[in-house]
Amino acid sequence: MQALPWYQDTDGECAVFEAAHRARLPVLLKGPTGAGKSRLVEHMAARLERPLITVACHDDTSAVDLVGRFVLEGGETRWVDGPVTRAAREGAVLYLDELAEARSDVMVVIHPLADHRRQVFIERRNEVVEAAPGFMLVVSFNPGYQRGLKELKPSTRQRFVAIDFEYPKPELEQAILQREAGVGRDEARKLVALANRVRGLDELGLAEVPSTRLLVSAAKLMNVGVPARQACRVGVVRPLTDDPEVRGALDDLVAMVF
Ligand code: ADP
Repeated sequence: MQALPWYQDTDGECAVFEAAHRARLPVLLKGPTGAGKSRLVEHMAARLERPLITVACHDDTSAVDLVGRFVLEGGETRWVDGPVTRAAREGAVLYLDELAEARSDVMVVIHPLADHRRQVFIERRNEVVEAAPGFMLVVSFNPGYQRGLKELKPSTRQRFVAIDFEYPKPELEQAILQREAGVGRDEARKLVALANRVRGLDELGLAEVPSTRLLVSAAKLMNVGVPARQACRVGVVRPLTDDPEVRGALDDLVAMVF
């Protein structure tokens, strides 16, 4: 059996996820990138002993991609289930990452699956697939990203139980860095201090502030022997900005903390 992917609960989200599964309700994970959304889903799917099917949605993701299509094989047409139909049949946890990115026809598929019907309607075959027991729909959404351009409609959002993701409290984020990257307490503490300084600097005009994921990357570099300042520059600062002035200001901050 595969080991349970480790997840640090930060605000009771594991219990909410488990309750939603028991109550057969879909879950919406809201929050910035790198905040632990996917890891929570991996952890909970393993804990609930359900297979996990993940789809990374992008602006070409269509209803057909999700539900399935007829393919031509040696002159014959054969139906192939898409990931949503497969997940419904198998009673899997279905994770649609960044659902707001997908084409709008996808919502027509999501709605009957996200409410009490728990059904996939396969228009091309005039078939209704009832989701098997254990099936759970989970979607993620980054409210800050491209604000105003990609939103989820209220009619979609209101079908979900929603869990907010903020960056974890310092002691929990430190614990994540120690466990994920194997760095010591002092390095973890300094990385989190650096991140929280940057997170508080609105005047830098960063599109996104450093995520837990970036801190894990820097910590991993430190753990394999990259000097702390360099690890922060290439692991945290460079991925965040291309602006030479902002980069300079962040590099100075790194030098103050380490
Ligand atoms: P998201 O799906 O929100 O973009 P991920 O779940 O991929 O983010 O998280 C990025 C990385 O950050 C993970 O691979 C893991 O190393 C770390 N991480 C973030 N939050 C947690 C957490 N609460 N518990 C364990 N690891 C975490």
